[in-house]
Parts: sequence; structure tokens; C-alpha cells
Amino acid sequence: MMRLETDILISGGGVAGLTAAAAFGTAGFRVICVDPSPPVTSANDAGADLRSTAFLQPSVTVLQEAGLWERLFPHAAALQIMRIIDAGGVVPEPRLIKDFNASDVSEQPFGWNLPNWLLRREMVGRLAELPNVDFRPGTATTRLLTRASEALVTLSDGTNVRARLVIGADGRDSLVRQSLGIPVTTTRYGQKALAFAVTHPLPHQNVSTEIHRSGGPFTLVPLPDRDGLPASAVVWMETGPNVERLAALPIAEFEAEMNLRSCHVLGPLTLASSLTVWPIISQIAARMSGERCALMAEAAHVMPPIGAQGLNMSLADLRELLDLAKAAPAEIGSEKMLETYHRKRHLDVQARVTGIDLLNRASMVGAQGLRDLRAKALEALYSARPVRQTLMRVGLGLRSGGKTTETP
Ligand SMILES: Cc1cc2nc3c(=O)[nH]c(=O)nc-3n(C[C@H](O)[C@H](O)[C@H](O)COP(=O)(O)OP(=O)(O)OC[C@H]3O[C@@H](n4cnc5c(N)ncnc54)[C@H](O)[C@@H]3O)c2cc1C
Repeated sequence: MMRLETDILISGGGVAGLTAAAAFGTAGFRVICVDPSPPVTSANDAGADLRSTAFLQPSVTVLQEAGLWERLFPHAAALQIMRIIDAGGVVPEPRLIKDFNASDVSEQPFGWNLPNWLLRREMVGRLAELPNVDFRPGTATTRLLTRASEALVTLSDGTNVRARLVIGADGRDSLVRQSLGIPVTTTRYGQKALAFAVTHPLPHQNVSTEIHRSGGPFTLVPLPDRDGLPASAVVWMETGPNVERLAALPIAEFEAEMNLRSCHVLGPLTLASSLTVWPIISQIAARMSGERCALMAEAAHVMPPIGAQGLNMSLADLRELLDLAKAAPAEIGSEKMLETYHRKRHLDVQARVTGIDLLNRASMVGAQGLRDLRAKALEALYSARPVRQTLMRVGLGLRSGGKTTETP
């Protein structure tokens, strides 16, 4: 039986776990990262993650520190304007359009959007450059025991690992979280999301558009051009049965429904990828840490994909862990470090999960009266400039006042 020793064992090599492995590896720590599913690094391969991630400004500094940003930036589409459209009237057409322009709060765009399969390709490439990172795709964490001085992890190939810190980045059913006995609170909405890519005749002009009618938002996020045509990533949230029905339609019928729902804001959309279906829940762990272990990303918090919060919150988790580890490398995994991590992150996580839950419920409403109320609330929030700017800063996760001017 093989025995290994490391500073940090990262359980989970999704986008969050891979970023953490690159960041801690770049900072000089010895890292082992395991995941039972080898990453799919091409859009056309079976199991490819066809979602995209909009990295908001604060996430970019983490990616820079991980040596990832220079690899990712050439493939990214900037997001300058977040457009909210209420199409909740009797006929499915825009009746209220509100633009949140990044220039109101920053000299930088809100963020940059990239396909998830491409993130995995570049992240795996980065890990291969780091001799102190041992990435083991095809291997799961199967058992976790902790004591005050270290964590003992058993892997699916029988290897035993002694680590000073275990990072649970192993998703919403996290084995690390369950082994620590940390409970979760879960909210189910009866909703699912369809994620896919489209091309369209009208340029997106770096505008990300969220269209609200009922069932959940229909969101178009800019991608770089595809075969000379403007392209966007789409997340379409609807009731579960409706998503199953849409996903089973022949392409022409699906495109007709998609175009009705998009209100033709970018002209007729053409499907440019296969469809993937994602269940939608909110979930929050009672704690962000346990003995010798930190939870991050979906192991700690899950929410509906609204406002590009999910992975950006995960990178805020990583930011905190990285700062604490760099400030006191000899202390990684100590009770003091992990208690500080929990305290610094949990309130923010609770506030954002609650906020996104409310936005999702507002977007889901079907009754005409409630949809009218939603449009009035949007109008009111938008009209007061200070409120609008505060909302934008909070959504971005910016820490202090004033405009940001740094170039990524
Ligand atoms: C439709 C959709 C669109 C989204 N769009 C955005 C967006 O624009 N911006 C944004 O910030 N967020 C977005 N999100 C959220 C974002 O995608 C998630 O926050 C992110 O993918 C979660 O990453 P993760 O690494 O925690 O989880 P996962 O991707 O689920 O990774 C967990 C990994 O752990 C592995 N694992 C499981 N069990 C074990 C084990 N026992 N041992 C080791 N490994 C294990 C799994 O194989 C998996 O690879 C979106 C989400 C959805 C559903």
C-alpha cells in the first residue's frame, strides 16, 4: 500500500478544485488533487461541460496568482453591460429594459466569460507545469480521518495520504463534508437549467442579457465569435418537466421555442452545441470548515445560476484560504486558520445564497399580478443611482468603494 505525505490534499478536480490546485501549487505548497472523473477538455467529447463561467473582477486576481489568467484571457469575451429585460407582460416581448453598465462602478468590464470545457483544458495544462502538484484524475477520496495534527485520507486506489490540510472541493454531495458530519440546508425549486451555445446575426456588443418572464431567467452571455458569427452561451431555467420536454424536441422545434423565449433580442438564434441539463437547488453547509479541513465551492454552497455568483463565490473562498496560507505557511490546516476562514466566508455565503434565492423566486413567478410587481420593483431599484451602484458593487463582490482601474 502506497503512503504519501503532502501539505494539501484537494478532493475534487472540478473547475474550483483545479483552480485551487494551481493557486496553491504556484504559491509553493505541495499539493495532491484527486477526482474520479478525468476532465473532459474538448467541447465535442462526451460529457463535456457546455456551461460557461463569467469570471467577475475579483476572481481575476486569483486566476493571475494561479498562473492561469494569461492562458485564459485570449479565449475570453468581456462583459461590459448586464441587461435585465422584463418580458412578463401578456405577450412575450420586452416591456422593460434596464442596462447596468460596468463603467458606473469601474474602468474595467464586469467580468470575462469562458466555456467550462476550455477552462478545464487550460487548468490541466497549468498543473502539468507545476512539479509540486500531483494531479490524479481517475482517483476518488474514499475515506477521511482527522486528528489535531493532520488528516488521513484513503484514495480509491488504496493509497493513504497524510495531509496538513484537506480542501473539500468535491461538489454538492461532498464526501469530505459528509465525513466531517457537517449538515446542509437544501432548497428545491422544481426547476432545471438547459445550458448550450448559440450563434446569432446581431453582435452581442459585450452585453450579457437576462430575460425574465416565468419559470426562471433566460440568460445570454457573450462568447468570442464562432466560425465568423457572433456567439453566446445560454442558460435557460424552467420548471423541471418543461426542461425535459424542451430537451426532447427536434432541433427545429427547439429553436422555435428558444427564439420565442429570447424575444429575438439578438435576432434568430441558431443552436451551436448539444444541450446539457442541470438540476437547480440552493444549498448551504452549516460550517465552512472542520478539523484539518476546509470546504469550498459547491461542497459548501450551491445556488441557481443568476448573476454569475456560483464559481465567483468559490474563488472568493479560495482567495481567503490562499491569503491565510501565505500569511502563515507553517500554520496551514491549524484550528486558528480554519476558524478564521469559516468566520470570514460564512456570512457572505449566507447573504448571497439568500439574495439569489429571492431573485430566483421573483423570476419564477407565473401569475400576471406578481410579474407586474416584479417589473415595478426592477424599475424602482434601477431608478435610484446610488442603489443601482451599490447593487452592482455587491454583485461584483468588490470589497471597497471607489472605481476600480487595475488592468487584468
Ligand atoms: C447552468 C449553470 C451555469 C452556471 N454559470 C455560472 C457562471 O456564469 N458563473 C459562475 O460563477 N458560476 C456559474 N455556475 C456555477 C458553477 O458552475 C459552479 O459553482 C461550479 O461549476 C462548481 O464547481 P465545483 O468545482 O464546486 O463543483 P463540480 O464541478 O461539481 O466539481 C466537483 C468535483 O468533485 C469530484 N468528486 C466528487 N466526489 C469526489 C470524491 N469522493 N473524491 C474526489 N473528487 C470527487 C467530481 O467528480 C467533480 O469533478 C453555473 C452553474 C450552472 C448549473
